[in-house]
Order: sequence, then structure tokens, then C-alpha cells
Amino acid sequence: MVAGEWGHGPAGAMRTGKVLPRWTCGCGEIGCVDLFGGARGLERLHGFLAGEDKSSFDILDGWCAGESAALDTVDLYLDIVCGALANLVNTVDPSIIVLGGGLVSDTSLVSALHTEMWFRILAPKHAPRFAKASVGANSAIIGAAIFSRERLSLLKSEVNTA
Ligand SMILES: [Zn+2]
Repeated sequence: MVAGEWGHGPAGAMRTGKVLPRWTCGCGEIGCVDLFGGARGLERLHGFLAGEDKSSFDILDGWCAGESAALDTVDLYLDIVCGALANLVNTVDPSIIVLGGGLVSDTSLVSALHTEMWFRILAPKHAPRFAKASVGANSAIIGAAIFSRERLSLLKSEVNTA
């Protein structure tokens, strides 16, 4: 099993060719994939493209209803997220990708993500399947808590050995 934080690398939009905003990420870098992925990223991207302040669920409802602005936003979202995901798949060749967060419940979006990834990887015949995180929508928060606990434990052991 491989787990990692692949969202803190540069985002790109190679299929659409759109120029992305140079937002500063919480990690200190500019333009990380993490800024565009997930529900907040979708909302932020929609605000950038359409100038509308909508929830991710409203954007996805608009996408399913064929609303032009939502179609543009989700198309760019798929381009950004799946371009990075394809890099990851081509490098690591996972058999399963576990998806977490609130958007996982949107089966149309998950299906579109898988399709876009499938078209962009080198070996689509061996495309990884997507699986929902067992902890559901709170997976990022739980992961951050586990990461913090592990870092704290590491710091404590460094202090004890110094
Ligand atoms: Zn970052």
C-alpha cells in the first residue's frame, strides 16, 4: 500500500489549455492541485471562472442539468484533478485509489473522474478502480489528525533522544 499527499504539486490544465489562477496554497507553494481538488476547490474554481459563489453541490447539480457555467467549471476541474491523477497512476501504478471527502457521494462526478483518468493514463487496460474511503466525508480531517499525531510522536521521540 502506498499513501501520500499528492495534492501538493503544481496543477496544470493541459487538455483544456486554460490558464490557472496563481493561488497560494496552505503548504506555501503556488498553484497546488490541492487548491483545485475537493469541494472547496470546485467552489473556488467556479468563483474564479463564473464569478459565482455557489456550493459544490449546487455546481454539480448545474453540471448535471447542463448549465453552461457549471459545465465549464467541472470540465476544468476534471482536467486539473485527472491530469495530476494520471501522473500519479503512471508513476505508482496503483490497483485501487481510495477517494474521500464529501464529493465522493456524487456518483456522476466519480464516474467522470474515472473516465477522464482512464483516457489520460498510459495503460488504461490496467486502470485502478476507485473505492470510497471507509471513513466517508471526514477522511481528510481524520488523515490530518493522524498525520499530526504521528508528527507529534516523532518530535517527542527526538526530544527524548537529544
Ligand atoms: Zn500545497
